[in-house]
Amino acid sequence: MINHLQAATTLNNGVKMPWFGLGVYKAQDGEEVVAAVKAAVRLGYRSIDTAAIYRNEDGVGRAVRELVEEGAVKREELFITTKVWNADQGYDTTLEACDASLRRLGLDYVDLYLIHWPVKGKYIETWPAMEKLYKDGKARSVGVSNFHIHHLEDLRLFEVVPAVNQVEYHPWLGQKELLTYCRDRGIRLEAWSPLAQGRILDNPELGRIAAKHGKTAAQVVLRWDLQNGVVTIPKSVTERRLAENANVFDFALDDADMTAIDALNTGTRVGPDPDNFDF
Ligand code: NAD
Repeated sequence: MINHLQAATTLNNGVKMPWFGLGVYKAQDGEEVVAAVKAAVRLGYRSIDTAAIYRNEDGVGRAVRELVEEGAVKREELFITTKVWNADQGYDTTLEACDASLRRLGLDYVDLYLIHWPVKGKYIETWPAMEKLYKDGKARSVGVSNFHIHHLEDLRLFEVVPAVNQVEYHPWLGQKELLTYCRDRGIRLEAWSPLAQGRILDNPELGRIAAKHGKTAAQVVLRWDLQNGVVTIPKSVTERRLAENANVFDFALDDADMTAIDALNTGTRVGPDPDNFDF
């Protein structure tokens, strides 16, 4: 039972990663992202998910620095994720991209560094750079994002097994086969757009389950992630929703609820299919 906001899963390299975190995609650099990260950490969040392409690493770094300076949290209590963007993939360029992210964040290391998308013909060159960043201590763990099973199979020839695969995951896109594969290989699945960018929240079945537990549809979906063993990073920049989303540790979905939510799976994506993207 995952029963508090700072509960963590142990990744395949022994590093602890909070089950729950804040995603900051589309949070504007500057005041917006700084305020969101600070509010989240003060509410007890310990994990922040950004990316070079979100163009808000500066703001995330500023918030972290100010929180540490004021004694709200220690750096080592935080879990910071960022990602190498597609245009930077390749061996040397990935090493440079990581340094640039660390500079913008104002950090010596990140807790998790991810290959953002499986760019054809590139991620095979990129992964050895991720291994080097891991061995050099610039990333405490390394992983991938948007990898299908066949992409993960391509990485089998390397030494380091990805610690995490961050993929689109919500009740419309249950990804059972990928979840089982990752679980069997010790790769932790992490959900992006866990709320389907808010679009799934007026689903009547989720409403019914939410009413049964005295919770909101968002809380039910996030609890379903956790009970499936999936790390989740919902995005919000409003304090009320940050608090609402994190308030999922005092109830449990029963088997009937879990089955009913699983049954919402239609394979519908809110983002691109990793086998068919052009950026
Ligand atoms: P999300 O599913 O987390 O939905 C966020 C949106 O839902 C918010 O903008 C808000 O409009 C709404 N919302 C949030 N909480 C709510 C609540 N309690 N009630 C009602 N509405 C609510 O979508 P996301 O931001 O796309 O995904 C979360 C995070 O995942 C991102 O911020 C980012 O960090 C990560 N992500 C990664 C990738 C990738 O390719 N690796 C892609 C997309 C997102």
